[in-house]
Amino acid sequence: MFDINKILRPNIKKLVPYSSARDEFKGEASVYLDANENAFGSPLDTAYNRYPDPLQYKVKKRLSEIKGVPPRNIFLGNGSDEAIDVLFRSFCNPGVDNVILVPPTYGMYEVSANINDIETRKVLLTEDYQLNLEGIAEAIDEHTKMIFICSPNNPTGNSINREDVETLLANFSGLVVVDEAYINFSRQKTFIQELTEYANLVVLQTLSKAWGLAGLRVGMAFASEEIIEVMNKVKPPYNINEASQQLALEALNNIDTVNSWIKETLTQRDKLVLQLKNFDFVLDIYPSDANFILVKTTGARDIYNYLVQQGIIVRDRSKVELCEGCLRITIGTPAENETLINALQNYK
Ligand SMILES: *Cc1c(COP(=O)(O)O)cnc(C)c1O
Repeated sequence: MFDINKILRPNIKKLVPYSSARDEFKGEASVYLDANENAFGSPLDTAYNRYPDPLQYKVKKRLSEIKGVPPRNIFLGNGSDEAIDVLFRSFCNPGVDNVILVPPTYGMYEVSANINDIETRKVLLTEDYQLNLEGIAEAIDEHTKMIFICSPNNPTGNSINREDVETLLANFSGLVVVDEAYINFSRQKTFIQELTEYANLVVLQTLSKAWGLAGLRVGMAFASEEIIEVMNKVKPPYNINEASQQLALEALNNIDTVNSWIKETLTQRDKLVLQLKNFDFVLDIYPSDANFILVKTTGARDIYNYLVQQGIIVRDRSKVELCEGCLRITIGTPAENETLINALQNYK
């Protein structure tokens, strides 16, 4: 059913990608005079005078071991936000095609669509923040190229029912992009293992959340080899800088620390939920599979402003449809969470 040639932009299909010096000579040599680099070095303790590996092979190899996916099924982006943009540029014809978004969800899908002049068709989640499959089916037409599903969803925190995502994967002839930025905190299992099953699946993950590397800007897309090949053709040649590649590799060898933080975050999340429930301005706390919670309050803006005065910043999501009265609160360290609770005890 899925045929990449049916959804690829014609200009991308015939695109001859930029061929860098590092693409044209890949072996080991003693003298490199092919890339107009500074041969003397860098005015730093570490040398960055050479262009980085355009396909980030070492990082992908390590990721491949961790995720159980061959390197040829991995794309690395300058954050997963770059992967989102590259998907639009690869598959969506400006002014012609459309994508399906299921708000309330992550805001970058819409921004990226707008930048690329792609129509967004919005099908609201249901009251319990699940997919409206009938609504999605009605919104799809012959120009619908992608559907973005964020699971666990930002800002609601819940996971999307797996069977519903599988229904889309099995029936939609465009790409189903499953954004798993928060998968490390989830009770649900990743969709990465379904890549062999569904040719139209793209899974996004990132080193920005659980891995604690938001400042390095490294995001991943996992997909079929043919999709990854297109994305590699469209991305800027050196999209992950050398420092980020080296540090990401080092971090990926430190998985135990990350796992202990995930465990602690979940403990803190449960504790914070129990404490917040005691406040009478808290109306509801939605079940979370992520490192944040969505809290429905009697007056989100007032609580937000009060917390700002106390030097505590949370996210006011009360203007977002289906999130009326809601604050999104990231789980902090035990001390930060205690500071938050203490501040809220003195509210009003
Ligand atoms: C934070 C977040 C991302 C971010 O990605 P980067 O890798 O930092 O660009 C992607 N998707 C969702 C849903 C997020 O919340």
